[in-house]
Amino acid sequence: MVYAGVDVGGTSIKIGLVDSNGNIIADNSIETDKSRGYKGILDDIVADIKVLCEKTGIDYHSIAGIGMGLPGVVDSRTGTVSYSANLGWRDVPVVHGLEVASGLRAEAANDANCAAWGEYKFGSSRGMDSVILITLGTGVGSGIIIEGKLFDGVSSAGGEAGHMIIVKDGKQCNCGLKGCWERYASATALIEQTQEAMAKHPESLMNKIAEEQGKVSGRTAFIAAEQGDKAGKEVVSDYIDYLATGLINLGNIFHPNAIIIGGGVSNEGPALIAPLEEKVNSSLLANEHNPKVRIIKASLGNKAGLIGAAALVM
Ligand SMILES: [Zn+2]
Repeated sequence: MVYAGVDVGGTSIKIGLVDSNGNIIADNSIETDKSRGYKGILDDIVADIKVLCEKTGIDYHSIAGIGMGLPGVVDSRTGTVSYSANLGWRDVPVVHGLEVASGLRAEAANDANCAAWGEYKFGSSRGMDSVILITLGTGVGSGIIIEGKLFDGVSSAGGEAGHMIIVKDGKQCNCGLKGCWERYASATALIEQTQEAMAKHPESLMNKIAEEQGKVSGRTAFIAAEQGDKAGKEVVSDYIDYLATGLINLGNIFHPNAIIIGGGVSNEGPALIAPLEEKVNSSLLANEHNPKVRIIKASLGNKAGLIGAAALVM
């Protein structure tokens, strides 16, 4: 069986043909042309799926369905995008629209949930029952799967762990609240924390590394820490504390088999994952009597959303 997976972003759309084992047969990326409205965008997607079919010799009508991940609040039960700031959509009946445009069966879900579903079905947590994916990027994305089901609340409006408040009256978040976890644990926040420490410690290696690389990145503090830089080590340790705070909350609420860490920062590997796993597990309630919550690096990279979207129709 062949399925189509679509991962819609604010600037580009990833489209792929995926087999029943979660392998990408062929994929492609097209521009998100918002000026064409949602129907135009759905037509572009269908046209590109046809191009991929031609390239691979797969009969378009043999595709078993199209799954689509979208940024924003997607009510997966009604197939409607209630709200998407990135696309400028409100109450868009996207599943019906895609079925009309394609003549195929369609499903849709929020993009972070699709990525979690992809990792759950085919990634590093395959075979586990309850899994939470946390993506560290511009913000903190999350997808919660409990006992094999996506957990996203009434009208799919929940499951947004990035906006749990971890500091009362803390830093202002884009969502309107203050002190959200993503203001402390996203890649953006890590860069901000690095810049603050660099200004405070002009002697720190971080300044030299940033100059060599031409910018401050999520890697700057980790590289400095690896080379023994004191201020760099502090940035990394504080960042891991912030990250752990949210993971401990999630661990105590859900106690999943594993929490998967994705996004660019997860490439730090053991320097990030090992202390995180230790901190989280030593803080969980009655930790000596319960199985560990494993902390694992995501394995599908930026294709998790596409693969997970295809898995919605499997
Ligand atoms: Zn927020």
